[in-house]
Amino acid sequence: MHLLNVSAGGLHAVQIGTEVVTTGHLKVPQPEPWHVTDDGIPGDKRAVHPDKIYAFSRQAYAYWGEQLGVEAARWPDGFFGENLTFDTLDESDLRIGDVFTLGEEVRLFVAGARSPCLKLSWRLGQPPAFQRAFAKSRYAGVYFGVESPGRVRPGDRLRRIAHNPAMPSVADVSDFLIERDPPPLEPLQRLLSFARLSGTNRLLLSAKREAAERAQDRQEGRWRGWRPFIVSKVTQEAPEIRSVEFSPADGGRLPRAKPGQHVQVQFEHEGATLRRAWSLSAFSFTPECYRVTVRKQRGKGSQRLHALRPGDTVSLSAPAGDFTLDMGSYRPLVLIAAGIGITPLKAMLDAHFSRRDAPPAYLIYGGAARKTSPFERTSKHWPPRARTFLSRSSTAARRFPARFTEGSRRTG
Ligand SMILES: Cc1cc2nc3c(=O)[nH]c(=O)nc-3n(C[C@H](O)[C@H](O)[C@H](O)COP(=O)(O)OP(=O)(O)OC[C@H]3O[C@@H](n4cnc5c(N)ncnc54)[C@H](O)[C@@H]3O)c2cc1C
Repeated sequence: MHLLNVSAGGLHAVQIGTEVVTTGHLKVPQPEPWHVTDDGIPGDKRAVHPDKIYAFSRQAYAYWGEQLGVEAARWPDGFFGENLTFDTLDESDLRIGDVFTLGEEVRLFVAGARSPCLKLSWRLGQPPAFQRAFAKSRYAGVYFGVESPGRVRPGDRLRRIAHNPAMPSVADVSDFLIERDPPPLEPLQRLLSFARLSGTNRLLLSAKREAAERAQDRQEGRWRGWRPFIVSKVTQEAPEIRSVEFSPADGGRLPRAKPGQHVQVQFEHEGATLRRAWSLSAFSFTPECYRVTVRKQRGKGSQRLHALRPGDTVSLSAPAGDFTLDMGSYRPLVLIAAGIGITPLKAMLDAHFSRRDAPPAYLIYGGAARKTSPFERTSKHWPPRARTFLSRSSTAARRFPARFTEGSRRTG
C-alpha cells in the first residue's frame, strides 16, 4: 500500500435532483509539500462527515470503472471524495484500530468504513440505490484518524505497526452499516467500545445496537421483563427446603444460565405482587426448565414458593448476576458455603462436573445438621461427609480440606 496523491477541497453548493445541498465531496489533488495535520489535510473542508481522512485506492477506481463502464483513467485522484489515494487497500484485512505509519513521520489508525451518501451516487451519476452496492463492494474506502501528524511524500508506504485481529475489519463494518438485518451483537459492542471509532460509523451503528440486542435475545431464547412459567416439579430436599422446577409456559427455548446466576420470581399473592430473587440450583447446557431451591422462612415470598404445586403459574425474569463460575479455568476449584447459601454453588458443581477435564474441586460447607442440609439425599454431586461442618451434630468438626472429583468422592 503506497501513497499516490493527496487531495483536499472546500465546500460547494450543488444541485442534486430538486435540492441544493452543500458538499465537501469535490476534492482536487494538492501540490507538494503534503502535510497531514491533527485536523486532516490543510484546506480540506467537511460538510457532514466528521471523519478527518478518507482513503481510497486506484485499485478501487479500476473496479468501479469496470462496474460502471467508465474508463477509470478519466477520473482524477480525489474524484471519489478521498483525501489520500493509495495504489491498493485491502478492506478485509484492515481492522478497526490497526495503526500504520505513513512515511517517516505520520501515524494513522483505522477509524471506520466509508458510509456512502447521496453525494457519491450523484458524483457517479447513479441512482440512490447505488450506495448499497458501493458499501458491499469491498472497494468503498477507509476512514483514518491521525495519531501523529507530519509530512508525507509520493510513494510513501503504509506500514502496519499494530494489528488487532479480534476487531471487525473495515469490510465487516461496511456490512454492519448497510445490511438490513441487525449486526451480530458481540462485534458490534467491541466496535462501539473503541473510543476512536469514526463518528459517522458510531452514529449509524449505535442506532442498530438495540435491534442487535433484541435479535441476540431472540436467538438465545432470552427475554426482557417477565415471562410466564409453569411449575413442573416440586422436590422436598430437607424438612424446610424445597426445590421447584419451572418450565416456560410458551414451550419456547430457554437460554443457558451461567452457573451461579439467579432469577427473580414474581407471584400474585393476596392481591399484591411479590418478587424474590432465587439462585438457580442446577446447571444444564440445554435447559428445559429452571430449578430454584428455597428454605422456608417467615416472609411471604418463601412461604408462597413452598405452597406452589405442579401446574401453578408464576413469572420469571431471565437469569442474571455476575457471581458465576469460570468454566474454562484449569485451576482447582474451592467453594465455600453455609446453609441455604449452597444453592448457586450447587449449579457450579453441576457445571464443573459436566467437564471431562475438570480440575480438582473442594467444597467447604457449614450447616446446622445433616438432615436439614439441602441436596444431601437428592444429588449425586453433593459432597460426602468429609467436607461438611455441622454445628448441631455429635460429629461436629470433620476432616478438612477434602478433595473430590466425580466418580471418586471421598467419604472422610
Ligand atoms: C441473588 C439472590 C439469590 C438468592 N438465592 C436464594 C436461594 O437460592 N435460596 C433461598 O432460600 N434464598 C435465596 N435468596 C433469598 C431470597 O431472595 C429470600 O430473601 C428468601 O427466600 C426469604 O424470602 P421471604 O419472602 O421468606 O423473606 P423476605 O421477605 O425476603 O425477608 C427476608 C428475611 O426477613 C425475615 N422476615 C420476613 N418477614 C418477617 C416477619 N414478619 N417477621 C420476622 N421476620 C421476617 C425472613 O425470615 C427472612 O429471613 C436469594 C437472594 C438473593 C438476593
